Amino acid sequence: MEKGCYTGKIVVVGAGNVGATVAYTLLLRHLGNEIVLVDVAKDKASGEALDLQHATSFYTSAGIRDGDYDECADADVIVVTAGVGRKPGQTRIELAQTNAAIAKSIAAGIKQYAKDPVVVVISNPVDIITYVIQKETGIPANRCFGSGTSLDTARLRYACAAQLDMDARDMNIYVVGEHGDSMVPVWSCANAAGAPLKELIEASGASCEEIMTRTVDGGAEIIRKKGATFYGVSNAAAKIVAAILGDEDAVVSVTKVQEGEFMGISDVAVSLPYIVNKTGIVKSVPLAMDDAEKEGFKTSAGKLKEVIVEVLGVK
Ligand code: NAD
Repeated sequence: MEKGCYTGKIVVVGAGNVGATVAYTLLLRHLGNEIVLVDVAKDKASGEALDLQHATSFYTSAGIRDGDYDECADADVIVVTAGVGRKPGQTRIELAQTNAAIAKSIAAGIKQYAKDPVVVVISNPVDIITYVIQKETGIPANRCFGSGTSLDTARLRYACAAQLDMDARDMNIYVVGEHGDSMVPVWSCANAAGAPLKELIEASGASCEEIMTRTVDGGAEIIRKKGATFYGVSNAAAKIVAAILGDEDAVVSVTKVQEGEFMGISDVAVSLPYIVNKTGIVKSVPLAMDDAEKEGFKTSAGKLKEVIVEVLGVK
């Protein structure tokens, strides 16, 4: 993997809405020259691979196929998207239990074959599943992390940009903490092309709370209207894969098992903006959070820790 060169082998575990769309996004963006879909539903993986192979006639020579965990042996990046969605009446904890069991079986498959990959977890609840896969595979935390709040950051940037009639790529704001209800937007040091973002939002007649409500409710609205969300997260995944394959040193808000490096928090996966390159996570970007944001981050990490204790029995 060389800087600016995006060749490499990517294994995508789970060929459902998210897995297939991740593969499609990687193809469209010319990320990776070999993509393999792995799924317990073998026909699903094989059918998606064939459909995507047909698409490659139009624009790329990247190879895409279905396969099994032995394909992880020489993978540069493994993207984990397998899991089940929440059933009506099912609690978040029950969903975490089901998907943690699936994650353990996936971790066993990765561990059996993979040599030195970077693993990117998408399956929900992503902070918990990242924790499970990192612990079960034993891959260092900086090489086994999750998409975390990268999607929430994208949603927040979109909401700000739509409010201000500006390009979302000029919105310099990050969401930290849980990919879920306790996420924390870091307004205190956010800017739009250098101008203080909070002031711009307020001057536009909206409040930051309103913008956050749009951000947080966005995912639920999509699920209510079309059953699942996958385009946003697939582009977040593609950004992370590009950072790794292209050795970009790109900053992405991803969830990493903490090792006491920030606020003394450890043994829980939670999101901060990190610099990502071919080695995985290099280091976090020291956002100048105010006291309330730091407290919110700590509370968010604490909530995730409670789930880890309840679901996984970790003390
Ligand atoms: P889906 O049901 O369409 O696809 C899931 C796939 O996983 C299925 O094809 C299924 O056969 C496969 N699978 C199940 N168990 C498996 C196993 N043990 N090994 C291999 N494959 C297995 O679901 P989806 O819409 O693609 O969503 C997938 C996951 O991504 C869910 O957990 C969802 O909540 C999550 N998601 C995360 C984010 C995020 O921001 N982190 C955003 C959207 C969706």
